[in-house]
Amino acid sequence: MTLSQLELPVWLARVFAFVFGCLWASFVNVVVYRVPREMSVVRPASHCPACGAPVHPLDNLPVVSWIVLRGRARCCGARISPRYVVVELLGGALSLAIAEVVLRALPGDTTVLHAGSIFLADFGLAMSLVAAAFIDAEHMFLPDAITIGGTLFGLATPGLRGLGWSDVVVGAAVGFVGVWLPFIVGYKALRGRSGMGVGDAKLVMLAGAWYGWPGAAFALFAGAAQATVAAVVLLLVEGKIDEPEAVRADREALRRAAEEGDAEAKQALEEDPLGTAPAPGIMAARMPFGPFLCLAIVEWMIAGEWVRDWLGAI
Ligand SMILES: [Zn+2]
Repeated sequence: MTLSQLELPVWLARVFAFVFGCLWASFVNVVVYRVPREMSVVRPASHCPACGAPVHPLDNLPVVSWIVLRGRARCCGARISPRYVVVELLGGALSLAIAEVVLRALPGDTTVLHAGSIFLADFGLAMSLVAAAFIDAEHMFLPDAITIGGTLFGLATPGLRGLGWSDVVVGAAVGFVGVWLPFIVGYKALRGRSGMGVGDAKLVMLAGAWYGWPGAAFALFAGAAQATVAAVVLLLVEGKIDEPEAVRADREALRRAAEEGDAEAKQALEEDPLGTAPAPGIMAARMPFGPFLCLAIVEWMIAGEWVRDWLGAI
């Protein structure tokens, strides 16, 4: 069956795409909470982070439940972070955008199976990037399951994006080396610390594995431009850039463990670039870069065609 034979009303397809996105994004919330805490993402079923009571499925509906309960848990009244709703709405909006932009560009004789594969791959990547962005914003760490797993998936599926094997292999290599060499090896030689994390290099590698070297280049440059704007806004509004609270708390916990003679904690403190407090001053400020890379990759997924046309016209 092809897309033109599928007589699905456009409004119904849109509603379906939005609801589908919200539902999966509520799983993304579970990933964002549990993965940095080294918990399983499938077991146990949802429970209240404040008092541990199990959450009734009806109180666990994306967006709707948060509004009905006015942002509080039914069990103990604890405040539920608006992040949950933001992530769910983001999932709905991205699913809708991918369906509109990516699927509508396909010719009518595309099979439903092929179109569905393209949608699911793109949506899966978008949700993985949302999870990575929120985890990195809070903990300054990008899970390998997302960066390396996403890279492997991209390398295995170039046909879904009209690319060839050489495009994605070269893209991934250019993406990784293009960040690792100047910003990690070179920067460290010059300034004694790395300018980016290896996780950031893996994320740009993922961009290349999905979209070839132009995608990797866009991720790096648009990511850096947007991070710079965010840093300037933060400095203007707050006068300083603080490292994320959880990063400081983790370091304190490690230091206490090391002082009590835990050799593993001691080694982790020495090896982790986040193991020492940031030096004072704006130049040494510590800001997670992953969320901006993720944003740029999603921008390329949705508007890459348009960016290429625009760059070609100037
Ligand atoms: Zn509770």
